[in-house]
Amino acid sequence: MQFETEYSLKPHNSFGFDVKASFWASAQSIDDIRDAQRFCQENSLPLLVLGEGSNVVLVENYPGLVLKIAIQGKAIIKADEAKVWLKVGAGEHWHSLVQWTLDNDLYGLENLALIPGTVGAAPIQNIGAYGVELQASFYSLDAVCRETGELVRFNKDECDFGYRDSVFKGALRDRYIISHVTLCLAKTPDLKTDYGDIKTELVSMGVVVADAKSVAEAVARIRQRKLPDPEVIGNAGSFFKNPIISHEKFAQIQVKYPNIIGYAEGDLVKIAAGWLIEQCGWKGYRSNDAGVHDQQSLVLVNYGNADARQILDIAQKICSSVRDSFDLELEVEPRVYGVGVR
Ligand SMILES: Cc1cc2nc3c(=O)[nH]c(=O)nc-3n(C[C@H](O)[C@H](O)[C@H](O)COP(=O)(O)OP(=O)(O)OC[C@H]3O[C@@H](n4cnc5c(N)ncnc54)[C@H](O)[C@@H]3O)c2cc1C
Repeated sequence: MQFETEYSLKPHNSFGFDVKASFWASAQSIDDIRDAQRFCQENSLPLLVLGEGSNVVLVENYPGLVLKIAIQGKAIIKADEAKVWLKVGAGEHWHSLVQWTLDNDLYGLENLALIPGTVGAAPIQNIGAYGVELQASFYSLDAVCRETGELVRFNKDECDFGYRDSVFKGALRDRYIISHVTLCLAKTPDLKTDYGDIKTELVSMGVVVADAKSVAEAVARIRQRKLPDPEVIGNAGSFFKNPIISHEKFAQIQVKYPNIIGYAEGDLVKIAAGWLIEQCGWKGYRSNDAGVHDQQSLVLVNYGNADARQILDIAQKICSSVRDSFDLELEVEPRVYGVGVR
């Protein structure tokens, strides 16, 4: 395994922040992960794990080893009449996996088409889009313990999935490096087309009877229209999570803001954070090269040479406005790395 020094992370984070890692390596196997851990222990270096860097805010140069997880491979490990269990290397590109499952008549991931990033990062925040979350197709994952080097299997319950959340963002944060994810996919599609504009998009595509491929295509087309492409404008997708509040609090806010957008989820209501931000006047805001996207206020953007501090400064101001106007707290979705930030 090769360790590079003073390595630029600019092409490895979707915001395009121009920071460096003191050391960089790419892990193609579980042995490589263990070699990297040994390297860090022997040299007393911190370790930062990266997939494709599409959900991180890198504030400054990293004074340790940045390890890219590049483990590849897909294997069907079990099947019955209705389902297939597919084990996938953590370094596989998520959207390529979605396409591969559709080409192989395996279903469940179609609404998660075109989410950037790797398979190994998907359980970290239980990726979700268009009414579906990873947890619906998740079976288990294998991860190397950062302390002992031991390979541990986590089943679904142990991952404690929530909305953009898992145990790996909470109690087990930075404790494990995911090497493989096993998904349980259906042999027959159960299409979910009720969310957002999927149905309208299918109609505009001329689809009369939808199948899983056309749903994935519809989701991809909507996403391409609504979200800035990080290859063109740096961003990390939604910068904030949608706040989840009680029906009572929702009703209180509704008195003053009858148009507020909220989706009932059992005892709670999920509020569209983008709407809150837009109401506070931030949509399309720009200060030098840092800003808020002009089509989607939930997405903070780097137009070229912004650094993470400029983006975080705007994020902080947005949080204050939303707090002042709605008495609601916004939570940052991507993981922020920098001195003094956990
Ligand atoms: C344009 C755009 C749109 C997006 N849309 C969505 C969306 O619709 N839904 C959604 O949920 N997310 C969305 N995201 C966020 C992002 O795509 C997901 O969070 C994705 O899973 C991140 O994958 P990654 O490989 O880039 O992870 P990274 O950004 O590299 O890492 C994210 C975190 O996971 C950790 N991590 C990564 N890999 C591993 C591993 N193998 N083992 C242990 N820890 C690991 C990292 O240390 C880091 O803390 C979007 C991002 C962008 C840029």
